[in-house]
Amino acid sequence: MAETAKIINPNKIVLVPDIEAGCSLADDCPEDDFIRFKEQHPNHYVVSYINCSAGIKAESDLICTSSNAVDLVKKIPKNIPIIFAPDKNLGRWVEKQSGRKMKLWPGSCIVHETFSEEALLKLKLEHPESEIIAHPECTESLLSYSDFIGSTSKLLKHIQDSDVNKFIVLTEPGIIHQMRIKEPLKSFYDVPGIDGCSCNLCPHMRLNTVEKVINSLKNLNPRLELDKEISIRALKPIEKMLELSN
Ligand code: SF4
Repeated sequence: MAETAKIINPNKIVLVPDIEAGCSLADDCPEDDFIRFKEQHPNHYVVSYINCSAGIKAESDLICTSSNAVDLVKKIPKNIPIIFAPDKNLGRWVEKQSGRKMKLWPGSCIVHETFSEEALLKLKLEHPESEIIAHPECTESLLSYSDFIGSTSKLLKHIQDSDVNKFIVLTEPGIIHQMRIKEPLKSFYDVPGIDGCSCNLCPHMRLNTVEKVINSLKNLNPRLELDKEISIRALKPIEKMLELSN
């Protein structure tokens, strides 16, 4: 996200409180391997989820978010074959929703693949009146149990619109804090990782602590810098997303 902010605002200072805070999904799609993948599938239109590196954005024709992915893919003419990267789970869900078959890059997010199916079913048995709500980065088997699937913003809206009072939440549990602020009288349950581990918490996001945010604002450091040529190329598919979203 920091890279996207810098691509859109190349002349502004973009701070990353902990410069090591990356993303397993972005790391799962190295640029050189992706270029080879594109060469194996020539003449494909490349749609990339915004959670990818600046280098992958520069290799893409269109960027999407989990909110707009289905609508944007539906707008691509049916005779044009599509590559979708880097998340295979989101890609598979977009395929189902849009009816478009795509070549999926086999990447995934460590957090959304780690939820324990057994723990999920146990929670549902304990709270049969609850709804299971999930982010489309989850695996297909987890999504098959879900009553509602949507991006973070759509999940937040859904818990406010729904008459249900209990929700089992299949996404990074950091969102549950915002859900409790929006709906203090409703109950939210996160799903532990396989073997009860706490790997359902994103290790990357948690590197950015409040102390580090304060320090970075005081010192205006660490700053994110990007290669100019990559940045210029990466801006085009982001602009295309904005154009098609209007
Ligand atoms: S939860 Fe963490 S690893 Fe997964 S997509 Fe988000 S930032 Fe990346």
